[in-house]
Amino acid sequence: MTSSYQIIDHTYDAVVVGAGGSGLRATMGIAEAGLKTACITKVFPTRSHTVAAQGGIAASLGNMGPDHWTWHMYDTVKGSDWLGDQDAIEYLCREAPAAVYELEHAGVPFSRTSEGKIYQRPFGGMMQNMGAGPPAQRTCAAADRTGHAMLHALYQQSLRYSADFFIEYFALDLIMENGECRGVIALCMEDGTIHRFRSHSVVLATGGYGRAYFSATSAHTCTGDGGGMVLRAGLPLQDMEFVQFHPTGIYGAGVLITEGARGEGGYLTNSEGERFMERYAPSAKDLASRDVVSRSMAMEIREGRGVGKEKDHIYLHLNHIDAKILHERLPGITETGKIFAGVDLTRQPLPVVPTVHYNMGGIPTNYHGEVVTLKNGNPDTVVPGLFAVGEAACVSVHGANRLGSNSLIDLVVFGRATAHRVAEIIKPGTAHKPLPADSNDMALGRLDHFRNAQGGSPTADVRLEMQKTMQAHCAVFRTDELLQEGIGKLTKTYERVQDIRVTDKGLVWNTDLVETLELDNLISQAMVTIHGAANRKESRGAHMHEDYPNRDDENFMRHTVSWFDGWGGKGGGVKLDYRPVHTYTLTDEIEYIKPKARVY
Ligand SMILES: Cc1cc2nc3c(=O)[nH]c(=O)nc-3n(C[C@H](O)[C@H](O)[C@H](O)COP(=O)(O)OP(=O)(O)OC[C@H]3O[C@@H](n4cnc5c(N)ncnc54)[C@H](O)[C@@H]3O)c2cc1C
Repeated sequence: MTSSYQIIDHTYDAVVVGAGGSGLRATMGIAEAGLKTACITKVFPTRSHTVAAQGGIAASLGNMGPDHWTWHMYDTVKGSDWLGDQDAIEYLCREAPAAVYELEHAGVPFSRTSEGKIYQRPFGGMMQNMGAGPPAQRTCAAADRTGHAMLHALYQQSLRYSADFFIEYFALDLIMENGECRGVIALCMEDGTIHRFRSHSVVLATGGYGRAYFSATSAHTCTGDGGGMVLRAGLPLQDMEFVQFHPTGIYGAGVLITEGARGEGGYLTNSEGERFMERYAPSAKDLASRDVVSRSMAMEIREGRGVGKEKDHIYLHLNHIDAKILHERLPGITETGKIFAGVDLTRQPLPVVPTVHYNMGGIPTNYHGEVVTLKNGNPDTVVPGLFAVGEAACVSVHGANRLGSNSLIDLVVFGRATAHRVAEIIKPGTAHKPLPADSNDMALGRLDHFRNAQGGSPTADVRLEMQKTMQAHCAVFRTDELLQEGIGKLTKTYERVQDIRVTDKGLVWNTDLVETLELDNLISQAMVTIHGAANRKESRGAHMHEDYPNRDDENFMRHTVSWFDGWGGKGGGVKLDYRPVHTYTLTDEIEYIKPKARVY
């Protein structure tokens, strides 16, 4: 069956799957260490979703007011609603300033203060003095195109260290042997050839799976392919029930308006013209963390104070800000407002609504980027040869809720840490073992299955059904009833994936086939997300369960790990277990930050 494919073999020390901020930072670092490195990416590197990041990257440089990495750490722990691992958070915040200077030296054109220092803006949940306030100006920005600038600089640097790029190659599956990762199989989308990469280490940097939902700020390519591969390899994902809704997606279009807009003084109003955030978060107001602002907006809409004909959205005002400042600091969103909402935001408010934005959950790793699993009672068992970074991973520094501008810093800090670890483990020239005889079987069996699928359900229909179910049953507010109903619906949708129809049988630019493989990756993650949500009988961070409105540290201050029995006719069962939260820090310079109620 699978013999009809042309297979081309490659041998590398390290293969990175993904060329967003995290994948490029890892690629650059591994290549810099003199290892033979390949980076495989399904889109051109500078088209990765990181390009869309607007607001900025957090680091306690203290350029525009007092700041300290321990304050950043406190905010991140609090933002995570005490689900983040504090060793990893310490590492992130301590390393952040050096990582930003490194980007500066790599060529990122940051905005500047009048003294020529890197410009920093306030962002939600970022405070001075261990949470006491006032707000800290911690988010470094290149106008409102920070991700764009980062991606270009990192791509150029990776090329400089002569990493090999396999562009528009779609990674299908990992090659695993006796619990170790030995490489990865990819499809060249241009000519349909199959590429088998034998490698000492594989780094998954495939980004989030926002497209499991109907309305998302993330690109259509954010389909969680790395998470899908990990589940098929029989490994678990972690904390998948925590999905971040960004307060300000443009109503109807889903396009993001950066939190930087509120950082520069923007505010929200309801149908009565009230600045309602003053009621929900008296001190941080419009700059409370994202889960709090999204929930407050959803609450206003539910209680009939939404704006517009259907009273189903909220206004964001920037019209009081000097047009010159808007032009200088937020040029991109001025344009976005015009194109996607038809609004001149120097005069009119923008219609906005909470929109899926970020996945806190993902592939569990330690702070070296090594993938971990729960095995024989050890929750931190390393999976040899396998690494994960960026939004695809769950280190976990964001816990139950990520603070704005903490993802970009996560990409570069842990991209770099992963490169260091890989270089520590693998010496240049280390010999490769032969690959297992069945190394292709799963990837090609699955490819063949979908390519020849002649069922009754077109991919686009099934995908829409999944997205609508997730949006209606697993969004900002959750209840037992809603979730159970959602599980029922999604299970039926999963059955339809087994009855899918792919019309194009070719192998050259077969977008129908690639979208089907992506759908298969998405639905496994949608399944573990909704099961994880139904199982978590508390409210924490982005997971607001109305039947259990309080946080329950005694029973649920722990990470959910989930396995999916998806591939090969195993029926789509979900298995859940837990890993403990790391309640210790890396050094004596900061103590474990004890849980408190989270108010802004
Ligand atoms: C609109 C928007 C604005 C944002 N703004 C900010 C911000 O201001 N500050 C902040 O901190 N965070 C922000 N975020 C979040 C942050 O940008 C993302 O979390 C982050 O960029 C993800 O980077 P990544 O490296 O993990 O993956 P991505 O940038 O998503 O890249 C994924 C890569 O994986 C590759 N890939 C995926 N699947 C496959 C496959 N099967 N085979 C081969 N390659 C594959 C893709 O080609 C791509 O190169 C924003 C997010 C969005 C959506």
